[in-house]
Amino acid sequence: MFFGYFTKKEWAYVILCTACIVFQVYLDLRIPEYMNDITYAIQTGSGQELVEKDGFGMLICALLSLVSSVCAGFFAARFSASFTRNLRLRMFSRVQDLSSQDISEISAASLITRSTNDPYQLQNFLGRSLQVIVKSPILATWAVLKISGSTWEWTVITIVGVLIIAATIAIVMWSVMKYFKRVQWLKDDVNREVRENLTGSKVIRAYNAEEYRTSKIYDASEALLDNNVRIFTRMAPMGSMSSTVINVMTIAIYWTGAFLITDVSDQDTKFQLFSDMIVFSSYAMQVMTAFMMFTGIIRGFPSAKVAYGRITEIIERKRSVPEGDFDGKTPAEGEIEFRNVTFTYPGRKTPALENVSFKIEKGQTLAVLGSTGSGKSTLIKLILRQYDPDSGEVLVDGRNVKDYTRRALFARLGYVPQTPIIFTGSVEYNVNYGETAPQRDHEDVMRALRIAQAEEFVSRLPEGTETVLSQYGKNVSGGQKQRITIARAICKDPETLLLDDSFSALDFKTDKALRQALKGSMAATTKVIVAQRVGTVMDADMIIVLDEGKVLGKGTHKDLMGSCGMYRDTAIAQMEER
Ligand code: ADP
Ligand code: MG
Repeated sequence: MFFGYFTKKEWAYVILCTACIVFQVYLDLRIPEYMNDITYAIQTGSGQELVEKDGFGMLICALLSLVSSVCAGFFAARFSASFTRNLRLRMFSRVQDLSSQDISEISAASLITRSTNDPYQLQNFLGRSLQVIVKSPILATWAVLKISGSTWEWTVITIVGVLIIAATIAIVMWSVMKYFKRVQWLKDDVNREVRENLTGSKVIRAYNAEEYRTSKIYDASEALLDNNVRIFTRMAPMGSMSSTVINVMTIAIYWTGAFLITDVSDQDTKFQLFSDMIVFSSYAMQVMTAFMMFTGIIRGFPSAKVAYGRITEIIERKRSVPEGDFDGKTPAEGEIEFRNVTFTYPGRKTPALENVSFKIEKGQTLAVLGSTGSGKSTLIKLILRQYDPDSGEVLVDGRNVKDYTRRALFARLGYVPQTPIIFTGSVEYNVNYGETAPQRDHEDVMRALRIAQAEEFVSRLPEGTETVLSQYGKNVSGGQKQRITIARAICKDPETLLLDDSFSALDFKTDKALRQALKGSMAATTKVIVAQRVGTVMDADMIIVLDEGKVLGKGTHKDLMGSCGMYRDTAIAQMEER
């Protein structure tokens, strides 16, 4: 619920803003009363003094009204800034919390517009319109109360005017809402195209695909333009329509007023009627102005509503993989077990893993071998619980991963993703990363770098471990990035290391040295190593050979050379290559 997101402070801003507005409306509506007195006094020639006194009163009212309007604006701005900031923070922490499946469903491009453009739209709208939203209904009702009971002809004219404007607003809003909904989605499209263009610029150039890419961006922008033109052509008549109605209404009031005044014979009643007419038309103006203001801001309403909906859709989204409540206070053991695990990606027909079972103990090394697409990364993802299996169980230390809280599960695992992720910051920052960082010192970082075979190249960097790496690690090579991310996992000192194809960019010599260092220095740590080279997996305690999600063979190098044809063939082929 919208109001449910307000903090106490934000409620206070809204209340203060409303108070200022009520006071302002009171003052604004006092002014016509002074006008009534003055016109009557001038016409009947009763006293210069009264005119001066009332004039002074009017001036004070106008000044105080200005002050309270400034205060109302201040509180409204405070409110909208604070409200959208809190929404954005909530959304951000929610995004951190979502599973990979959720994020791929929403799409990264959409998440970017949702956390930048959408809060901006909302803040912009709230900042400009909070005052009007509060003020116009108060002003309109109060002004109507003041003029009700006056001459009925004028009241009828005002009501007709209000109805015409209200109907126009309703019809226009109804006709543009669907285009407003589309704006944000089209912005997502443009955003995605631009993002792909920027991240893929090297490839695009190398394939001379600039024209094709440009045409894609052009199409996306064109669709957005077309949509916006539709919105504005539908909205355009609204402003002029309202001012026409106001003008016609004023004329109608004076016109009927002229007849009414001619009809009465008594001079004093004529005067009274005349000043009534002045006052009435200025109240009627106030009512209309309230509506006009409303029309002015209502244009921003559809896009703000859509933006708000898109933000809360994320905030209120249920994680597709819920977490358990075991917070991991038992001793860590480092045991990993799969029991008849089958898993199919959403929207796929064939399983990515089929009936996989294995068990490894503390300190052992499990190697997963298979060609591209055989399900190796999927196996790792299931341990990390990025997805839940269709059937079977994934157990860490004898307990189903579903039972763990995410913190507890991740505290046990050291994960090195297939594509290395480097954050903007020094080598030291990138290695000593996350929850465990405060408990590690420079010595630990150096040790991790040494085991990961990164010590040498890091020492050759301009400022050693203080060298700042850019995001995506543009200033280091692929193999160097891999070793830094491996060092990160080692530095965490988890009970289990999950290395997803982390040796792929390493040469054979480094690969071997790294494996030996892991074996020697991380003897108590369980290791799951995903690889495509037999050389990398040879000395593992257990090797699983995967092909299209199925386990072709399971055992040590020696076992598999005897029992698994595919393994033997791969081994021989790869030996020959060398
Ligand atoms: P490997 O790591 O062995 O190269 P993966 O485990 O990444 O293979 O992929 C196994 C299979 O699952 C492949 O056929 C791949 O196309 C499919 N796959 C991987 N990720 C997804 C995903 N997010 N959605 C749908 N299918 C996927
Ligand atoms: Mg993979």
